[in-house]
Parts: sequence; C-alpha cells; structure tokens
Amino acid sequence: MLPVVDEPLVTHMRPFGETIFAEMSRIAAETGAVNLGQGFPDTDGPRSLLSGAAHRIEDGVNQYPPGPGRAELRAAVAADRERRYGIGYEPDGEVYITVGATAGIAAGVLGLIEPGDEVVLFEPMYDSYAAVIALAGGVRRPVTLRPDRAGRFTFDPADLRAAVGPRTRMIIVNSPHNPTGTVFTRAELDTIAEVCRDHDLIALTDEVYEHLTFDGTAHIPLASLPGMRERTLAISSVGKTFSVTAWKTGWVMGPAPLVRAVQTVNQFLTFTANGALQLAVADALRDETEWVRSQREALQAKRDRLSAGLRAAGFAVLRPQGTYFVLADIRPLGFTDGIDLARELPRSAGVAAVPAQVLYDNQDEGRHLLRFAFCKRDEVLDEAVARLTRAFAG
Ligand code: PMP
Ligand code: GLN
Repeated sequence: MLPVVDEPLVTHMRPFGETIFAEMSRIAAETGAVNLGQGFPDTDGPRSLLSGAAHRIEDGVNQYPPGPGRAELRAAVAADRERRYGIGYEPDGEVYITVGATAGIAAGVLGLIEPGDEVVLFEPMYDSYAAVIALAGGVRRPVTLRPDRAGRFTFDPADLRAAVGPRTRMIIVNSPHNPTGTVFTRAELDTIAEVCRDHDLIALTDEVYEHLTFDGTAHIPLASLPGMRERTLAISSVGKTFSVTAWKTGWVMGPAPLVRAVQTVNQFLTFTANGALQLAVADALRDETEWVRSQREALQAKRDRLSAGLRAAGFAVLRPQGTYFVLADIRPLGFTDGIDLARELPRSAGVAAVPAQVLYDNQDEGRHLLRFAFCKRDEVLDEAVARLTRAFAG
C-alpha cells in the first residue's frame, strides 16, 4: 500500500506545476483556438530526413545505440561545428548525444551544480532551467533582459557583474533567446566571457535556435571567444533546425571533463537516445544546409507577417532577431496582466499565446508581454490575426 500523503511530490519541485507550454496547448485543443502558444512548426522537415529515419527503422536499427550516441552523428556534429564556427571537437569524448537539448541541459546542471551553488541566467528564461537548478539544489541568480529604445532585449553589464558572487558556479546563456528573440552580439558575449573568465565560471550555452536568425544576424557560439572553449558546455538539437520537435535528439559539446559529467548523470536518466533518428540527423546535418537556409528565409517572412498583423490588431510588437517567437505588449489594448489575458484569449478571441511573465523570477518585468509563435503556415497566421483583429480592433 502507498503511504497516505497529501502531497507526495518532493518539496523543491512543488513550485513547478504543469508547464505553461503544455497548459496553453491543452487549452487551445479544448477551445479550438489557433495555437500560437507552444513553439512547434505545423509543417515537416526535409523529406530525406523523414525517409532516412523510416528506412533505418525498417532496416532494423532498433536496439540500443552506444551510450554516448551513434559515432556517425557525433562525427557529423563535430564536422558541422568546425565548418560553421571553426570550433573543433573530438567526436569521441567531446560530443555526446542526448534525448533533446532538454536532457543535455538537465544532465549538465545535475552533473555540475552542488547544492547551494549559484547559477546566473538571463530572464525571461526557458522554463526547464529553473526546474533542473531546483532539482540540483542550486540557487538562481537572474539578470533581467530589458528592451532598449529599438525594442531589442539586452542586459546591463553592471547587473550581470552584480549577480555573480563567491558561490556562483555556472552561467546559462541562451542565444538566440527564447522568448525575446535576442541574438547576443559579439560585444554582449565579450562581456559574458569576461565575467566567466574573471570568476572561473562554467558556461552552459543553449543554442537550439542557432540556425533561426534573421536580417543577416549571425549566431556566435560563446565557446568561440578567447578562453571560453575550455569552460563551455554547448548544447543544441535537431528540433528547431529541421522542424521535427518530436524527435528529441540533441547534443552536448565541450571539453572531456564537462562532457563526462553529463554522461555520468545521463546514463541513469535516459542512458541513450533513439539510434535510427540519430543516423538520419547525421545525414541531414551534412546534406540539408540548403533546406535550413530556405527555412530561415521563410521564417523571417512569417515573423514580418505576424508582427504586422499583431500591430494592426493593436499590440505593440517587439522585433526578434532570431527564434520563431515574437513578444507583444498588451498595454496598448488596455490589458495589464499577461497571465489573465493568455488564459482568456483562447475563448474570447480563439487564439492561444504564452504569457512571458511565467518565465521571469521578477514577474512584474514581464507582466505585460505575450509570446506568439510564428512557425506556422501563412493561412494559420492570417486566421489568428483575423480573429485577434475581430476581437480587439474590429
Ligand atoms: N531550449 C530552448 C530555449 C527551447 O526553446 C527548447 C524548446 N524546445 C529547448 C531547449 C528544448 O529542446 P529539445 O526539444 O531539443 O529538448
Ligand atoms: N520550446 C518550446 C517553446 O518554448 C516548447 C517546448 C515544451 O513544450 N517543453 O514553446
């Protein structure tokens, strides 16, 4: 018999209920709303990727791959980093395959953070960071990103320096950044790198949107800056790059001691990740760069399409340089609380969005912001805009 307890969940996970992404997708499904909340495309990735995986499964690639991942994918990941960014990784020992970036982030934090260690990160922050820091018994030290005059979110270097203390062990850097769309500039990364070197910090970089940058903006991996490769655990995955968010195939890259820390934890979380998908992804990283380029162009047009529509419906829209999200300020429409509006919008307007507020520790900073995903077919974006316009501007 189970012991009778009111709340069996461990105390440090009690603040974490259902994720906002799952909640909004559920409400969208219940109400028939156009779902611009949780970020996932409504079209598939390249045909060769899909058929490459299907063939592998039919051909019998269905048993455990090696713990660190298939050698073909580790080699393809290393070659891709070298070719695009000039950063060399040894496929054996410096590249490790995980069940999506999510598992890499979790294993990285659990393997490198002692109870009481502090982790500096930028808010708004992707939701899994807070949860895995809590699981590790770590302490969050958020640095708030705020819009500059042009509406681009950035940080005050003084805030970053003030967030670092004697217990700081790690900084998490997500660029291109979900949900603001900021792609950190060389100058911003120089500031972060200097802080890492001065305080001997480990950097964990979440680069899952590395290919989704617009207007010619370049993604610069933090590991490419002086003195950073040896202290950076870089993480990326296939979901956004190839529009296959369900594939949950990610990779961790870094010096062998950091990657070993990930491996030691991850072998008891998932042990390994789907082998057939890994082989297909290895091929696509090499052969489908043209598909990725055209996808980037298509997304830039979608950003502009949805932003113009949201503006016409009465929102103030902040311009992202990357990702597939746009933040909209709800105050011009007379609203003040994003959580309230996000909960009512699927019923009142027939559109689902994500309140950015829940991605902040200092929730007041994001109270007025909703995040809309634009990785959808044009007719879906147009339908969402038509509904919002009817609800607010019509
Ligand atoms: N990091 C960020 C910033 C994300 O937006 C996402 C969304 N999926 C992830 C990590 C998780 O990636 P994956 O699906 O590869 O686990
Ligand atoms: N990364 C996606 C987003 O930000 C969602 C991932 C998830 O649902 N966990 O919308």
